[in-house]
Amino acid sequence: MKEFSWMVFSIILQSLLIGLIIAIILSFFLSKAIVSPIQNITKKATRLAKGDFEEKLEVYSEDEIGTLTHTFNKMADTLKSNLNEISNQREKLESIIHYLKDAVVAFDNEGYPMHINPEAKTLFNLTEENGITLDGMIEILDLDYRSEDLAMGENDSVVLSNVVYDNRVFDISFGKFNFYLSNEKYGGYIAVLHDVTESFELDKSRREFIATVSHELGTPLTGIKGATETIVANPDMPNDVKNHFLNMVISESDRMTHIVHDLLVLSRLDNNRMKWGASSFSITELIEKCCLVLSTQAESNGQMLSFIKNDEQLPEIIADREKTEQVLINIVQNAIKYTQNGGSIFIAADFRHISGVEGLADGKYFKVSVTDNGMGIPEEDIPHIFERFYRVEKARNSDKGGTGLGLAIAREIVQAHGGNIQIHSKLHEGTTVDIYLPQKAQF
Ligand code: ADP
Repeated sequence: MKEFSWMVFSIILQSLLIGLIIAIILSFFLSKAIVSPIQNITKKATRLAKGDFEEKLEVYSEDEIGTLTHTFNKMADTLKSNLNEISNQREKLESIIHYLKDAVVAFDNEGYPMHINPEAKTLFNLTEENGITLDGMIEILDLDYRSEDLAMGENDSVVLSNVVYDNRVFDISFGKFNFYLSNEKYGGYIAVLHDVTESFELDKSRREFIATVSHELGTPLTGIKGATETIVANPDMPNDVKNHFLNMVISESDRMTHIVHDLLVLSRLDNNRMKWGASSFSITELIEKCCLVLSTQAESNGQMLSFIKNDEQLPEIIADREKTEQVLINIVQNAIKYTQNGGSIFIAADFRHISGVEGLADGKYFKVSVTDNGMGIPEEDIPHIFERFYRVEKARNSDKGGTGLGLAIAREIVQAHGGNIQIHSKLHEGTTVDIYLPQKAQF
């Protein structure tokens, strides 16, 4: 009996032991099946945190762990594409700011620089180490503002127009920006300096031009009105006095017609509406014709007008004959007008290689020079002499009947042919005008 019970006990003990071993083995495999995918997910999460999105987790089962691994892989993919999108957007924005023609500086709330684009660095002469604060910028630009004045509302902006800095004109806008990062509010100011020098200058010269035209047309009109009023107010005026006033009306209206005609020519040139007609002709013959046309005028002033011909025969030129003649007449007429009685005017022409002339590509050109020993032009006026309505001391020209548009038109015509025109002059000694024309006009 005792032996039997010992046997039963031993069987129970063995079964318990075997059961325990099986339980241990089973629990080992079970825990491995649950824990290792979670360990893998933890490792992947750590790599994700370091920015490694490449490796995917294997899905071994279709149970909850499998679903978790699957969802984790999907989350990593979404995160990767979102981050890519954000970094693309950032790169796009940075390259826009980088290549922007405007100078852009972003400041933090304390006015310290956060971002300075290359244009702003060049404008303010900044290096990597030396930035610019908001106050510093306001001071450099000499603005009537302090940084406190810019404490405006969110997304508000202050725009300052026509600020002159470094010989350039800018429209400057200061804007306030805010953003949230991890629930914390950040913000600052952004300054954008837009260069408007060109349009400012254009607008200025347009306004000046309108003022000059009004003045130039207003003066003869006042003369005409004055003369006609005098005639009307004095019906018994002697005939010779009346004729004097009537002649005044004629000459003033001639002057107005002349100005309006020149302005129309310039407007056609400006708007590319000038009709050009190229033909082949001899420049020598054209100069001879101009001399003939103007000889009476020169003779009546006791001036010597001569064309010093070259020994060699010049080739024919292909250009707009009528307009080339207009240029020559204008230049020679100026020489006659601005040379004292008894003075002399020489014209010379040749065809040769020209280099080093401003505004002219090196090459073969006709060069026609008109030289006089007249009153000359003061050095300070020479750079402006081709400007519209520019006249040297209006007083000295008042009796010459000029409009100040002749040289401007001449230069436009010559340049439209692909040539250029230059003036050299010495006060009280004389003037030389050099006209360069290519053999074949390039309009
Ligand atoms: P204008 O119709 O007044 O002659 P231009 O445009 O032809 O106008 O010339 C502009 C100014 O240049 C003239 O008013 C004159 O003062 C000066 N000028 C032009 N040619 C000569 C010259 N040969 N000698 C001296 N001054 C000249």
